[in-house]
Amino acid sequence: MPLHPRIMSCYYQQPFARCAGLTACIVLTAFGHALPPKAEQHINDVLPSDVIVQCGKLIDGVSDEPVINKSVHVRGDRILRVIDRGIAPLGAEPKLIYDLSDFTCLPGLINTHVHFDSNPEDSVDYSIYARRTPDETLQLVLENAKTTLLTGFTTVRHVGAWFPDAVYQARNLIASGKAQGPRIQTAGPYLTIPGGGGDLTFPEISGEDIPAESQQGIASTPEEFAASAEAAIAAGADFLKVIASGAVFSVGAAPGAPEMTRADIEAVVAVARQHGKKVTAHVHSDQSGRDAILAGVDSLEHASLLKDMTIELAAAQEVAFSMDIYNGTYTDTIGREQGYPDIFLQRNTYTTEAQRVVFKKAYQRGVTLLYGTDAGVLPHHMGGWQFTTMIDRGMRPMDAIRSATSVAANHMGLGGDIGAVVSGRVADLIAVRGNPLEDSKTLRNVAMIMQAGVVVKMPVAD
Ligand SMILES: [Zn+2]
Repeated sequence: MPLHPRIMSCYYQQPFARCAGLTACIVLTAFGHALPPKAEQHINDVLPSDVIVQCGKLIDGVSDEPVINKSVHVRGDRILRVIDRGIAPLGAEPKLIYDLSDFTCLPGLINTHVHFDSNPEDSVDYSIYARRTPDETLQLVLENAKTTLLTGFTTVRHVGAWFPDAVYQARNLIASGKAQGPRIQTAGPYLTIPGGGGDLTFPEISGEDIPAESQQGIASTPEEFAASAEAAIAAGADFLKVIASGAVFSVGAAPGAPEMTRADIEAVVAVARQHGKKVTAHVHSDQSGRDAILAGVDSLEHASLLKDMTIELAAAQEVAFSMDIYNGTYTDTIGREQGYPDIFLQRNTYTTEAQRVVFKKAYQRGVTLLYGTDAGVLPHHMGGWQFTTMIDRGMRPMDAIRSATSVAANHMGLGGDIGAVVSGRVADLIAVRGNPLEDSKTLRNVAMIMQAGVVVKMPVAD
């Protein structure tokens, strides 16, 4: 997938000006104001277009500990190197130096479980999905993508959609620089049984009003699932998503009950392997978790009700979990106030605490954990809120950050390009005020965002 969504570049043309159309894009420090030159530490190959980001603290996404007083030297869309602060370039001056001495820099964050074609409040009345026009749906997807980027998430895994065509379109617009948002890997449609957790057949929507786009991934037999999987890949899916068990936001089977058979899931995995694609499985049910692991999927979403034996099996088979352990609180409070249907609230109560218990066990057992919030169920601007819950449930803060950076990037097959602030990677960089290892809430308020070398947001000078 393209890694260069060059949306717009402000600093090459207007290094000292507020940049129209961008959020708080302000240059803090021009070159030469902050760095005393040290003759013995010169860098000899700085270009006029280079950018230096001075970080008070740097969490590189890979290492166990942060480092202090480093500068990230960015050239074009890549990180050229990470250097000690105080090193002065020789010869041509970099165009800009951003002084973020009071901030902690991190890699751009990755959310591995989002749905840009949904907002949480849509759950009050699902008929909204039949009332939005295709253009309105595309605008919704683009709006949620932009919101996500502006909270520091520079890459996402889009794990199923009722409107897969809108998500393909948004992914391509962002990749070509025509829209602002995180780089997207999308699963395309949900692969699901009729009336299952990924089927948009709700009592509020009459049969003839169900959008055809939402029915692309519906299948009943292994042969039909294989055909749906082929069709999704032909349409542009980057990986595949199966709805193996019942869902919380569904009137189909209960979350604890299987919907797809092991043979159904195996059929999807076989197609994916032929095309070099991964498969992730929505499972709350323990039985579905086992079936999916034994069918050969690469990851499980939710994993809420898994028994210890299944967690062990996942660890042994190196199947990763993306566990949305914060949004249950949102649904139970704000969702309840907004009038979500009782069945959603009851199912949410059934899975929330159970999932948090499984999360702790999975972490202790060494299962690979990918940061994923179920954005769409959770508001898109709240991507950073889940870190606190993960840490409260026993995860080391640095491991929580790595689950949203290098660990997620590696799982997505992008580990050579993103997920770490090291030489040669794409320049996806964020900064927060303070120390996120001591206060994870700092990750809810990302002050600086750079995506592929392009400044998306900079803190306003005090
Ligand atoms: Zn989801």
